Amino acid sequence: MKNIIFTMIALLSTIVAVLLFISAKTSKPLFNADGYASMNGGTIGGSKAFKRNIFTVTNKSELLKALYDAKGELSNDPKIIYISGVIDLCVDENNKPLTEKDFAAAPYTLEKYLETYSPEKWGRKNVTGELETARKESERNQAKTIVIKVGSNTTLIGKDKDAKIIHGNLLLEKVSNIIIKNITFEDAYDFFPEWDPSDGPNGNWNSQFDLIAIANSTNVWIDHCTFSDGDRPDSTLPVYFNMKYQTHDGAVDITRQSNYITLSYNYFFDHDKTTLVGSSDNSTSDKGNLKVTFHHNYYEKINQRMPRVRFGEVHVYNNYYNNIGIYAIGIGREASIYAEANFFENIKGPATQIKYYDTKGAGYIKDVKNVPPIEGIISSSDGIHTGKVNWNPKSRYQYKVDNTNDVKNICITYSGAGKPERY
Ligand code: CA
Ligand code: CA
Repeated sequence: MKNIIFTMIALLSTIVAVLLFISAKTSKPLFNADGYASMNGGTIGGSKAFKRNIFTVTNKSELLKALYDAKGELSNDPKIIYISGVIDLCVDENNKPLTEKDFAAAPYTLEKYLETYSPEKWGRKNVTGELETARKESERNQAKTIVIKVGSNTTLIGKDKDAKIIHGNLLLEKVSNIIIKNITFEDAYDFFPEWDPSDGPNGNWNSQFDLIAIANSTNVWIDHCTFSDGDRPDSTLPVYFNMKYQTHDGAVDITRQSNYITLSYNYFFDHDKTTLVGSSDNSTSDKGNLKVTFHHNYYEKINQRMPRVRFGEVHVYNNYYNNIGIYAIGIGREASIYAEANFFENIKGPATQIKYYDTKGAGYIKDVKNVPPIEGIISSSDGIHTGKVNWNPKSRYQYKVDNTNDVKNICITYSGAGKPERY
């Protein structure tokens, strides 16, 4: 009798344990990635999270607590993090906003920097010396606060249409399987831009921070998000040395052998350099990587890089471009771009050829049903290399192309944070 009771208790506790285990897991992915992010095993983010790894966060310290484990290490456990309200990343441990003076390293001040490195006084050689060293240190100080790493197997998702992450830079570095969805990202403001006298014919101000930076990472899906410079668009920024004092870098930059990435149904507006795919002509290890899909993104009042591609095999389809300052698609070294059924308005030229014009290393674009066609509409004097794109996305993954003339309405209706899903 004793034995039977013992066996029954053991059996019951096993059943309870199994039931608890089952209920602790969400049963299926919240969403399914498409395009390149659906390859290489797929991108499900934190869909397999235990209940204890499903968080709702309302400020930076709660976000960090969700991203790091109890030992203080970046967590790769499956996790779903709901963003609620506005999360400012440029704050101290008590979520108090920080500003330029909190990061500046002596003797840097902008006044001294402008005085020392003015082209009249300094000339066109690279800037060096204690002020430039102090500027770099100041920028590193800011980076320690505003650059936030995200571990593998993570879903970051806006709880509602008001979810925002501002004044910082999400860094996806050497990670995989990440979904970022339904979040508005604003103003990764760099307090300490660098003057580079050798960048372009007139020199340029350059900044460090992207809203999202993806490096050495695979399987990332960014869907239904909004990206802009927030309260500090370029139109509000001063001009020094005859050039815009550029305090922002990329919106979403994809570099260093990253692979299997999809950006879909996002809204990018009022920004300059939007998406790099490949950051250097010398990064030959990017060959065979940088496979990225861009579809149903809405670009409005953007200057350039939607995207600007080096080495990658990139599928750009059904995107809507309106009011583009310089160019939409940049064809850099050994780029292989399949551009399909995109709709362009208020633009000088949809695409531009960047360096390696007619030499070994030239990049190529295939023009399929774009309006207006990419062939013949040229924003660089050197022409566009069409053809020589020897891959077809249909052999990579399944997708449905919308009619080019419907793309504008579809993107206005469905693209960006808080916009409806489209099935
Ligand atoms: Ca530059
Ligand atoms: Ca960047």
